[in-house]
Amino acid sequence: MLQDSYGRDIHDLRISVTDRCNFRCVYCKSADPRNYSPHHNLLTWEEFLRLARIMAGLGIRKIRVTGGEPLLRDGIIDFLARLSEIEGINDLAVTTNGYLLTEKAGEMARAGVRRVNVSMDSARPEKFAAISRTPGSFERVLRGVDAALEAGLGPVKINVVLVRGFNEGEILGFAKLAREKNLVVRFIEFMPLDADHAWNRARVVTAEEIFGAIDPVFPLVELPRHEASETALRFGFADGKGEIGIVAPVSMPFCGQCSRIRVTADGKLRTCLFSLAEHNVGRVMRSGASDAEVQKYIERLVYHKEPGHRINEPDFVQPSRTMVYIGG
Ligand code: SAM
Ligand code: SF4
Repeated sequence: MLQDSYGRDIHDLRISVTDRCNFRCVYCKSADPRNYSPHHNLLTWEEFLRLARIMAGLGIRKIRVTGGEPLLRDGIIDFLARLSEIEGINDLAVTTNGYLLTEKAGEMARAGVRRVNVSMDSARPEKFAAISRTPGSFERVLRGVDAALEAGLGPVKINVVLVRGFNEGEILGFAKLAREKNLVVRFIEFMPLDADHAWNRARVVTAEEIFGAIDPVFPLVELPRHEASETALRFGFADGKGEIGIVAPVSMPFCGQCSRIRVTADGKLRTCLFSLAEHNVGRVMRSGASDAEVQKYIERLVYHKEPGHRINEPDFVQPSRTMVYIGG
């Protein structure tokens, strides 16, 4: 089973299947829509499946498919169905911007996807357009969330990245949304993984601030984590309606419990979201390595997984690739 030199068991894999996206969120991607890898640089579906099987053999139990926008890549539904059939994988989830969910939610559920996270950083159409730099998309995403709920992909989690100056005024509005609809709203601290390099500490809306904005109006009750490696602090409301999560990698790092590794769309293994080095597992597979050789390669890399991110250290260096390439 995969374990690193700090004794952390690694059982979660995030696969980014594309670095293309139809949105250009200010905290993620550059304003230039053309910055993506040529198709031949991406792993094929067969290559991703081989890697997933090898990883399942090493103890990976949960896979989250992400991107870029994963639902944009042709063949995604068939891929999800085949992933869900891999022995040992007991949880398959997708993170999406929701734009294509109205068409795809039913097929995703039938393919074996258990849950979806949908990114939605504002509940106001104009602000949503400003953050995603994609006018006219809000209503479609909202319909996508409903489609996911109808398809049984619940509990649907809404990912809200808070960036001071854009959307910190909507914390309470999102808390209300969580109470009114059957949704888990997860507030995520802005991380230094944006293409525009606009991140700075002052723009991070911290866990403490988020809690402080909601608790006096709707008293919160801490809920137990589903598992030790869960990234979100979970809170219910005192009257029992709704749930929120706070993901606070900057103000309350959770690296000590990390159980994740990532594979990028172009076949690079990353042992941390903030890794400065990537490892070309795709090239190793294409060089004719056997499954056993690929396994050994992965085990060795995972053993050297970083102890944690260094966002709060004075010598922190932002990775050269940004979230849209790494896969959030
Ligand atoms: N396109 C899909 C989406 O938006 O959900 C999947 C990929 S996106 C990179 C995955 C998640 O990363 C999203 O929830 C997004 O909000 C989050 N994200 C992107 N850049 C971020 C940043 N700089 N800080 C925190 N979260 C970020
Ligand atoms: Fe695209 Fe998701 Fe990044 Fe927004 S957060 S630009 S939707 S990949």
